[in-house]
Amino acid sequence: MKLARLGAPGQEVPVLLDESGTAFDLRSVVPDLTGEHLGPDSLERIQQAANDGALPVLEGAGELRTGSPLARAGSILCIGQNYAAHAAESGAEPPEMPILFFKAANTLTGPNDPVAIPRRAARTDWEVELGIVIGSRALYLDSPADARAHIAGFVTADDLSEREFQLVESGGQWSKGKCAPDFSPLGPWLVTADEVDPTNLFLRSWVNGEPRQDSTTADMIFDVDHIVWHLSQYLALDPGDVILTGTPEGVAVSGRFPYLSAGDVVEVEIEGLGRQRTVMGASV
Ligand code: ZN
Repeated sequence: MKLARLGAPGQEVPVLLDESGTAFDLRSVVPDLTGEHLGPDSLERIQQAANDGALPVLEGAGELRTGSPLARAGSILCIGQNYAAHAAESGAEPPEMPILFFKAANTLTGPNDPVAIPRRAARTDWEVELGIVIGSRALYLDSPADARAHIAGFVTADDLSEREFQLVESGGQWSKGKCAPDFSPLGPWLVTADEVDPTNLFLRSWVNGEPRQDSTTADMIFDVDHIVWHLSQYLALDPGDVILTGTPEGVAVSGRFPYLSAGDVVEVEIEGLGRQRTVMGASV
């Protein structure tokens, strides 16, 4: 199933999108798309209502803004340097263990919403990433094979980053450069895990229409199942938590491309999960 939230900020309506793009209003089944309503039981009820033809069409949906497909995140957990070529362009060796850092939950924003460059920013960068949305608690999983049952679905994400804060003012931890307002555009859709093979998806990015990243999730050092299993050895992954799984080569910190300026248009896309379009705004 392809799930989305349409409407003005704070007034989004949860919808199911069918193959023709028709939006069906989910509010008779779930009040919104949050961790509480993305577990296996809720997804089953949504599927059943769709099968029964019980969901009304949301009229005028084509005119509505697309919000983040998740109303709010619990934790936003990020895996660093999970593609060997990106580790190399960042001047690092490929990691032997998954690198974990966090983004603030309030960085979540819609896939086409403008994002202001942070105050004092000097090196703002893009990172297309496959996002995992957790649907049921994962803690101390026995093996990577157990991971998929805890995943509600997958999303396109942009792990926007301010490299000066991340690397120079960091004090050794990256999160300062990852948490500016609206630095985690998500969506346009959440596609449920049963319909996604996350092991070989194209992921791409563009700035002002010029190609930047062009890779596949097959090049991940640690794959989706390994990441969920591994993290569950250290913390409880709860419904509504988002895991960003790392970015491939082709970002500005490589030195090959200029950093972002106000007015730049960043587009990121993952095969089957949709494309985002972010206009960068001046700092506030
Ligand atoms: Zn990242």
